[in-house]
Amino acid sequence: MKKRIFLSICIVCAIVLIASLILILGVLQTSFSNQLLSEVKSETNFIAAGVEKSGIEYLNTLESVDKSRRITLIAADGTVLYDNVANVSEMENHSDREEFIQARDFGFGQSKRYSETLSEKTVYCAKRLSDGNVIRVASTQYSSFSVFILLAQPVAFIILVALILASVLASVVSNKITKPLNEIDFDAKEDEGTVYEEIAPLYSKIYSQKRTIERQLEAAKEKQKEFAMITDAMSEGLIITDLSTDILSYNSSAPKLLGYTGEDAVGKSVFTLNRTPEFTDAVTSSLSGNHTETSIEVNGKTLSVMANPAIKDEKTVGAAILILDITEKANRDTLRREFTANVSHELKTPLTSISGFAELIKDGMVKEKDVPDCAERIYNEASRLITLINDIIEISALDEGAGNYKTEAQSLKKIADEVISSLLPIAEKRGIKMELQADGDGIINGSREILYEMIYNLCDNAIKYNKENGNVTVCISESSDKVLLSVEDTGIGIPDADKDRVFERFYRVDKSHSREIGGTGLGLSIVKHGAIFHGAAISLESTLDKGTKITLSFPKQK
Ligand code: ADP
Repeated sequence: MKKRIFLSICIVCAIVLIASLILILGVLQTSFSNQLLSEVKSETNFIAAGVEKSGIEYLNTLESVDKSRRITLIAADGTVLYDNVANVSEMENHSDREEFIQARDFGFGQSKRYSETLSEKTVYCAKRLSDGNVIRVASTQYSSFSVFILLAQPVAFIILVALILASVLASVVSNKITKPLNEIDFDAKEDEGTVYEEIAPLYSKIYSQKRTIERQLEAAKEKQKEFAMITDAMSEGLIITDLSTDILSYNSSAPKLLGYTGEDAVGKSVFTLNRTPEFTDAVTSSLSGNHTETSIEVNGKTLSVMANPAIKDEKTVGAAILILDITEKANRDTLRREFTANVSHELKTPLTSISGFAELIKDGMVKEKDVPDCAERIYNEASRLITLINDIIEISALDEGAGNYKTEAQSLKKIADEVISSLLPIAEKRGIKMELQADGDGIINGSREILYEMIYNLCDNAIKYNKENGNVTVCISESSDKVLLSVEDTGIGIPDADKDRVFERFYRVDKSHSREIGGTGLGLSIVKHGAIFHGAAISLESTLDKGTKITLSFPKQK
């Protein structure tokens, strides 16, 4: 704008300057011309009067006085009789000259003629004398064009000076005009912001538009904040991309789940977060307008990726990608599948024996004396089945969650006492001594049913995997915030390699030995689930051939 104002002022100045120069030159030239004509006219009259009185001699006297005028005496037939500049004998007949014809016919004549180069203009005045001769006076003047050429240098200098002056002035003026515009304060009150009355409506419009934009921006920021707050609170990852897979926005869970630790990913391709073929295919497919679901493995986690096309005006403009951590669900599914397979297998073995013995008896293949023996085997296998099914029911109930059990204050000492009493006959059969050492009652908040089952399984194992005449010690102690219950035996111990796995469902160190002594592989798994239910920690210490100690650490009831 400043440049434009500056240029406009300069151009206007130049045009005005040149136009003024042309006009002034024209006016001056016309006035000089008129002046000259009237001078030549009156001189013609004077000279004519002189010649009338003194004859041609008068002209000779003038010769020495004034050389600026050309004086010619022409006879009535056009023959030049006298000329103060040229040789008369060499001059041609003047009867065709305009001023001569006018003077001859009307008494006085005048005319103007330009030289060949147009650089000069000659003014002629002629007057008829009483003897019919014509006296003519001529004066030469520079034409407008030659005056202009003659003055070109000084005029150019003046134009240059004027232009410099004009540009300095233009710069000052343009600065003065634009400065207040640059300093317009749109934060001031509506009626105080502008200095030019002419731009007040424009200022007002911009002012109100600015306020509207500010309000809209504020609202958009608020919305963005809300959106960020909601999405950041989500444990699921959310990524929004444009059509060229560049990330427009994402929440904090998305890079965490995808294991991306780089700097801000906005503006980068979504494939910088994950490059697995499954993820790439899902995003590409969603950008073609399809809802796509897939699962990927990242840092040992199983993630479910749901890529949806973002549609605007019936056109896909990007993708919204939702990422869920389904590791737990996937693990649970695997566990469930394994559990079902294991249960079927565990049920099948005793059932096959039962059906085998029953078939032998049915076909009369068993001698009479061996029938009780066969029946006892069937009985034992059926008992094993019942124990197994009871354990499965127990573990399924624990799997279902806390809803199935009532919790209240329980004395671990009392429950342990009951367990020992019920297992004592079995222990005594193998000469195993059972002992309970208790500091206090060991009161905790819990479910009697589960606690009984847990202590029973621990003591049962301590007897099953003990040596003849071994010992089982149940110990209950209390600290400021914990109640500890440990079951220690002097049995066969657990190899180091198996210590981590004995709490898994159906895991047994020695499968055939466990089965022989009626193990189901679910006892310690029930203990583990019971501990989780009560918020208790489990620790296992065991030395091969020396014994095992399993400790449960319950939070104390407040
Ligand atoms: P099971 O019904 O076979 O006893 P558990 O889940 O109770 O199943 O135990 C899993 C495995 O851990 C057992 O098969 C056994 O090998 C081992 N185990 C459990 N308790 C003891 C213990 N006190 N001493 C030695 N081994 C044990």
